[in-house]
Amino acid sequence: MIEERSSGSSTEEVLAELQRRCAFVMVSHVKPDGDTLGAGLALGIALKRLGKRVAYFQEDPVPRNLRFLPDAHLAARRLPVDLPSDTLWVFCDMSSASRAGESLPTPARENTLNIDHHLGNEHFGAYNYVLDNECSTGTVVMHLLRGLGVEIDEQIATCILTTIMTDTGGFMHSNTTPSVLEISADLMRRGADKERITEEIFANKRLATVKLLGRIIDTMRLAHDARYAYAYVDDAMLAECGADGEDTEDTVNVLRSIEGVEVAALFKAFDGEVRVSLRSSGRVSVQAAAARLGGGGHFRASGLTHRGTLDEAISAVDAALVAEGL
Ligand code: 5GP
Ligand code: MN
Repeated sequence: MIEERSSGSSTEEVLAELQRRCAFVMVSHVKPDGDTLGAGLALGIALKRLGKRVAYFQEDPVPRNLRFLPDAHLAARRLPVDLPSDTLWVFCDMSSASRAGESLPTPARENTLNIDHHLGNEHFGAYNYVLDNECSTGTVVMHLLRGLGVEIDEQIATCILTTIMTDTGGFMHSNTTPSVLEISADLMRRGADKERITEEIFANKRLATVKLLGRIIDTMRLAHDARYAYAYVDDAMLAECGADGEDTEDTVNVLRSIEGVEVAALFKAFDGEVRVSLRSSGRVSVQAAAARLGGGGHFRASGLTHRGTLDEAISAVDAALVAEGL
């Protein structure tokens, strides 16, 4: 068996656990993206092929643009009541278990597997399969699929390619290595529907999304010699545009793409709390800045939740970014 560089459990140990258990719950993080869902759905499909029982836990509704994923309709808050006591709970794409949300029943630690690629993963599972040099949690799952000996069919390939395209920003981010392109080519040969993924996730925007983008850009401010761009969106702006939180997904990347901008932040003041999305061009670690405020993520993409006012959130994030060298 090939030994992967997991800071935690070995590939062999995780495979033994996947083979030994009969039932699984694939857990994805709140406000799910293509990586957390695609990784869990792909591994779930593979386990079902091996005759295992698989359920999917997701606290929030599956976003419109990810409903095309095979089995996405199975991801829900409600879980079967008759799960065996040694069910393995598989957390995908989260640096801490709290990212799964508040309504997840807390499984016993010995029944938890944490599969991830985030820097600073908290190793909250009994088994921790964390490869932080992988571009997506989906490509971490690929190591396990190879070991399980399950054939990568169209469905699995589409799920994994979705994780890659989501977390590389459609092959644009610096985590798009030659091997990421090779794996992607192989997935396409196995039937991954790249056209559909592109259309659903990147190309096909709702009118409300584009209208909202305009409103958000109107709130933008530049600071620190125009190296920092930040903007906000609140419930009233959503209502004005007939939009919802899902329509804000890509906005922070637009702010970051402005010439000279090294760090961008989008402050989402919804339902009495402020969700913050941070992006960096590569000099300042937004993961470290978010971690100062109880959040986390990657060097170039991170997030956090601030329970307070918008103005407080803006000041706190500014101070954290300055402390990280902005
Ligand atoms: P986004 O801005 O797209 O919501 O998140 C960007 C990245 O930061 C993702 O990798 C996501 O998993 C991570 N992230 C977002 N919010 C949080 C948070 O509150 N805590 C942690 N630990 N990571 C987060
Ligand atoms: Mn990810």
